[in-house]
Amino acid sequence: MNSQTRIITIANQKGGVGKTTTAINLATALAAIGESVLIVDLDPQGNASTGLGIDRKNRTISSYDVLMQVASVEEAAVPTAVPNLSLIPSTLDLLGVEMEISNASDRATRLRKAFRGGVDASPFTYILIDCPPSLNLLTMNAMAAADSVLVPLQCEFFALEGLSQLLETVNQVRAALNPNLMIQGIVLTMFDGRNNLATQVVDDVRSFMGDKVYRTVIPRNVRVSEAPSYGIPAILYDLKCAGSQAYLQLASEVIQRERHLRAA
Ligand code: ADP
Ligand code: MG
Repeated sequence: MNSQTRIITIANQKGGVGKTTTAINLATALAAIGESVLIVDLDPQGNASTGLGIDRKNRTISSYDVLMQVASVEEAAVPTAVPNLSLIPSTLDLLGVEMEISNASDRATRLRKAFRGGVDASPFTYILIDCPPSLNLLTMNAMAAADSVLVPLQCEFFALEGLSQLLETVNQVRAALNPNLMIQGIVLTMFDGRNNLATQVVDDVRSFMGDKVYRTVIPRNVRVSEAPSYGIPAILYDLKCAGSQAYLQLASEVIQRERHLRAA
């Protein structure tokens, strides 16, 4: 893998918090400013693949094949309709992968190896990994392979619930598999300013997690939720909507932090 490549895992064991939406739109924003971006869809549900218009019949080589070591990252990556953005799609085969590799000594580092095995001239400058809603072997592989973890938290009452378990998993991966793993940041998603509780949640998360939390808060925005049904990112579907604008802002914070993390 190219030493310039930055690998960011997008993880939260809760479903429906905005992982996939963040993966797709952050990737698109990075691609729009000229980065060469790859999304690895590591969720058997395949929402990132669908949301980028790669339908099931076009998922011939998938993240499953990469984990099973029958395809390389470069072989599995397909272009999307977004310039500079490729995707490794997922298939339902991923549901069985945990059992299939559970006895392998490298079961948690398959993805890391796949990235490392790549040629030095990897075309990608950013790789974003979209995780399933679980702290399972797939998410462990994603964390073991990454430079940093980006955590979406939904602005709802139970936002912080589960966060300590997630951070504990990051610590375990750091100790056992990937000592350089950093927290990229925590992004608050689906914020509704008319809801007092949401404002309270933002304050709570900021006081608990301090400057790990990005300044950018992603608003709840109907255009963002409509875009996947057209198979395109919100940023292409409606660039001007508040949700798209927030993801562009988030991208610039992510880039700044990556520069920082790399220098550290
Ligand atoms: P996860 O990948 O964590 O399960 P998703 O990104 O799929 O979460 O988001 C869950 C649902 O919420 C999806 O239907 C998605 O379209 C919707 N959604 C995500 N972010 C927003 C947003 N900012 N505004 C409105 N709907 C959103
Ligand atoms: Mg998802």
